[in-house]
Amino acid sequence: MREYDLLIDGETPSRAETETVNDPSSNRPVASIALADESDVAAAVESAESAFEHWRTIEPVARGHYLRDIAEELRARKTEIAQRHTEETGRSLADSKRSVEYAAEYFEYYAGLTNHINGETIPLSDEEFDYTRREPLGVTGHIIPWNSPLLLGSRSIAPALACGNTVVAKPALLAPMSILELGRAASDAGLPDGVLNVIPGPGSTTGEALVSSEDVRELTFTGSKKVGLHIREVVSDRLIPLNLELGGKSPNIVFADADQEAAADGAVKLFSNAGQSCYAGTRLFVEDEIYDEFIDRVVSRIEAMEVKKDPNETDVSALISPSAQSEVASYVESAEEAGGTVTTGGRIPFKGGNFYEPTLLENVPDDAAASCEEIFGPVLTAYRFDSEQEVVERANDTEYGLYAGVWTTDLDRANRITEHIEAGTVTVNNYASPIPQMPFPAYKQSGIGSEYATAALNHYTKIKNVRMSVDKTLR
Ligand code: NAP
Ligand code: MG
Repeated sequence: MREYDLLIDGETPSRAETETVNDPSSNRPVASIALADESDVAAAVESAESAFEHWRTIEPVARGHYLRDIAEELRARKTEIAQRHTEETGRSLADSKRSVEYAAEYFEYYAGLTNHINGETIPLSDEEFDYTRREPLGVTGHIIPWNSPLLLGSRSIAPALACGNTVVAKPALLAPMSILELGRAASDAGLPDGVLNVIPGPGSTTGEALVSSEDVRELTFTGSKKVGLHIREVVSDRLIPLNLELGGKSPNIVFADADQEAAADGAVKLFSNAGQSCYAGTRLFVEDEIYDEFIDRVVSRIEAMEVKKDPNETDVSALISPSAQSEVASYVESAEEAGGTVTTGGRIPFKGGNFYEPTLLENVPDDAAASCEEIFGPVLTAYRFDSEQEVVERANDTEYGLYAGVWTTDLDRANRITEHIEAGTVTVNNYASPIPQMPFPAYKQSGIGSEYATAALNHYTKIKNVRMSVDKTLR
């Protein structure tokens, strides 16, 4: 068993109260994690507050060097961090190494932008000069989910730091190790004490204390809509920027003129990370005239996938917890009760580990729970459609609006569909993952605020306007 302590002000205090992290592939305990209580949260926020005084004054280029050093340190420890990531998430080591690489890329991307956080000049009269500055906010709080902890933590921590803010991060208790490793890596890379604090603990206590702290000047929450709405309530008496990155129920639409092989590959991308991804294309809409043929292609891909206990050998990794596994199973049961049919999969393959077979459901009514709610597991539901108008209506008939996929070789149609789909990102003839240089906006109940790209620089700064009297007369 590994042991992890808190990370506050560059120190690593241990605590009597701990929680065990289990490996989703076996449910065996792998680590013991110290839990931050209310006074630890207060200490972390205080340390971030005092670190801010110095961090904000560091020249932008020098701040960029710190971020680049963190990226380098992450890469130097890639295997070690990836091992912890595999133990806490159940994903393969190769997949976990990619996560470490992506995390490094976030730090690098924002390292390159520290000297590009520009203001504007606004022309006024001859007697006046007006300009804006983008200033950091102060202490930022980051509440991180378990489904891709290192990447999702890095995607908000990197821009927050780049803008001159300091950070208190609360990782999910189911998967806190890789974020604690990030904290260690940042310290060892030379990041000043208190600039990045990590306080593991349950959402209901540690998370709640962080969200309630009056000294936190910005909050980024990535997780479920339910908790996101709760957090908005908790901060409702304080005016602070709130970034809510919530769930999805994304449509993936295949027209008869599409490259079917490519589209079928895109359709089964859902099964990576066992479907535990906010932007996963969970609702597959297929045009009537190719429906049967296309579903055959999807089924043959799914049936070629093997579920094995070894995270490095399985094609579909374990779900995060036993309760996530039973939740997925009950969604499939409820879909069948609603008239849906299991085309392939639909079972827990073996005991030990939280695995679930990659599953395709058909004939599920549009208003069934499995069609409307986030299953967050390896379950794809397929629907038949006849016309563009119909599929756009049905694709938009969801409370969420994070991502969407369209497969067609007709450019005009692609443009019509992308215009009418209510989603923050629409992919055309690919179902590619988000990357740092593209924005990741959300429509409807998928969130507010925006991570990624230069949009994050706006989120993590506030504008100060300076209006100055000047005398331009030559003497
Ligand atoms: P979750 O249950 O909402 O938890 C997310 C985080 O919030 C965890 O760290 C959790 O802590 C914490 N938390 C829980 N209650 C809290 C409270 N009262 N106050 C403060 N913090 C609290 O979500 P999840 O199950 O981890 O993640 C899955 C969800 O995240 C899905 O809906 C998925 O779509 C969404 N997601 C969205 C994005 C995006 O970018 N839009 C990306 C990834 C995931 P503990 O778990 O430690 O108690
Ligand atoms: Mg949860």
